[in-house]
Amino acid sequence: MSLPHPEPERPQLDPERMQIARTYGRERRRLLPLEIALSAGAFLLWWDVISNPLIAWLESQTTGFDVQVIVYVGLFAALMFVVNLPLDVYRHARSVHYGLSVQSWRSWVVDLLKGLLIGAIIGLPMLLILYHFLAAFPQTWWLWMGLVYLLLTILMTQLAPVLIMPLFLKFTPYEDDTLTPRLRALAEAAGTQVKGVFRTDLSSKTTAANAWLSGLGRTRRIVLGDTLLDEYRADEIVAVFAHEMGHQVHRDLGLGILVSSLVNVVGFLLAGLVMNWTVAEFGYSGPADLRAFPWLVLTLTGFGILTSPLLNGWSRSREWMADRYAYDHGPGSSAFADAMIRLSNQNLADPEPPAWMVWYSYSHPPVTERIRAAQAAGSP
Ligand SMILES: [Zn+2]
Repeated sequence: MSLPHPEPERPQLDPERMQIARTYGRERRRLLPLEIALSAGAFLLWWDVISNPLIAWLESQTTGFDVQVIVYVGLFAALMFVVNLPLDVYRHARSVHYGLSVQSWRSWVVDLLKGLLIGAIIGLPMLLILYHFLAAFPQTWWLWMGLVYLLLTILMTQLAPVLIMPLFLKFTPYEDDTLTPRLRALAEAAGTQVKGVFRTDLSSKTTAANAWLSGLGRTRRIVLGDTLLDEYRADEIVAVFAHEMGHQVHRDLGLGILVSSLVNVVGFLLAGLVMNWTVAEFGYSGPADLRAFPWLVLTLTGFGILTSPLLNGWSRSREWMADRYAYDHGPGSSAFADAMIRLSNQNLADPEPPAWMVWYSYSHPPVTERIRAAQAAGSP
């Protein structure tokens, strides 16, 4: 239940906010070389200085392979985490400075710890499965690991909205006399199986607005942030909802799982080839030899860097499709443009990010392009 609120005025792009967004964008980009240098430096330190002595020490302490794997990879993950922590802290401080984040340090640290815990709960069994596959199937492990990844992604997509997201945000079923009938009509016209519309308390963390589609099967839902519901005109909310319906109609979540799983299996295959080469070249006992671990990380990271523009390009094309769906099936493209204008003023998204940055790392088209396209589409 939410109280009716007066309709705000139609939005205009705010030049002052755009200028702040440009500065904020530049500031964030400047951290990139530092981030790469820190991660690469820590990796090289691990490979060159820590890895072999650590393995020798572990082998002198225990014959338990699982323990060796957990301690070795756990320490590696801890090093990478600690090295990147100052940047994360700095980013949060700047986000608070710019008025985007409203999270206290306490709340930020609690979220960070929850994230680590979830990472460990999922990562630990995955790590053991990986190393058992590497030991048992040195030639075909990449295929089995690809399958495990696919199953895990399906399971996590299904469970995330009910098990993981509620650890960070509150979700309440959204009911409202004016909006809900319009949203329901849209969902029915699309003939979709969305199981619910939820309101979430994004304002406990941020001043930015957001909405998303999540879950699979019975957990499939559309989530609208309170930062959107309380500050946007009804037509704009319906337009954003229509965009999410577009994703649902185009089966983007399922396709996304499929595409990322296919890319992943290719990455594992490539890692398998590299591991075989290192075994022959350096006399490792097999791909499960921990001394080959840095090669595994190097191959998978390199592959991730190379495929990132591919996956993001695919994602942007799906976002454009969902935008066009919203023009045609929502209250019109000008309502959608208004929603994007409000989003642009609110979220401090860089209005003109460099083309290479969009090409490489943007999963969504820049918001100014979305506004222009919606205005050019010219439906009421
Ligand atoms: Zn979208």
